[in-house]
Amino acid sequence: MTYSLISVGAFEVNCAIIRGTQNEAWVIDPGEDAAAIIAALQRDALRLARIILTHGHIDHIAALDGLLAAFPGTPVVLHPDDAAWAFGARNRFPPYNVVPPRPATLAGVADGDILADGSLRAEVLHTPGHSPGCICLLFADDGVLFTGDTLFAGSVGRTDLPGGNGAKLARSLKRLAALPGTLAVIAGHGPTTTLAEECRVNPFLARCNRA
Ligand SMILES: [Zn+2]
Ligand SMILES: [Zn+2]
Repeated sequence: MTYSLISVGAFEVNCAIIRGTQNEAWVIDPGEDAAAIIAALQRDALRLARIILTHGHIDHIAALDGLLAAFPGTPVVLHPDDAAWAFGARNRFPPYNVVPPRPATLAGVADGDILADGSLRAEVLHTPGHSPGCICLLFADDGVLFTGDTLFAGSVGRTDLPGGNGAKLARSLKRLAALPGTLAVIAGHGPTTTLAEECRVNPFLARCNRA
């Protein structure tokens, strides 16, 4: 697996394009700028096999309908605890005044699920706290962890938005901290880091396994 990141939208979400060995691709968090995401896929003749949403916040999903218009029928993955509200008016947040419609191809996902398409393979970790349906994606074979808005370099996702829960976030972070420190961490916003580095410097992570 290889990946590239596109910074999209007003909140500079890291939209990831994940590429397998046979041009199969996943897009994580198409938050804005559908045209740029589509161009990146088309430039390398990638076959979009799945769209994965780390959580439902509008800045991570706003380009969903534009992307689906270019790649109709692509399965979309979102945890049901966020699918319950992500496609309604509750998800409006300035400057995002339009919420994309619920995709016909929306599929639920649960903790421990393995997503696989071609050579791409990732495990779903349900990590509630920033929102009820936050997930992280663990590419164990590739040593990469996509953390969405659960864990950032030096910080964590806010818990004061509707559905946020600080106690649940603490439990989710404790679980991440037990993963191998060698994992690269690609967060929903901001720079890439490693789990070991976050265990060293991030005040929100405690009792890390420094493997
Ligand atoms: Zn968020
Ligand atoms: Zn975000």
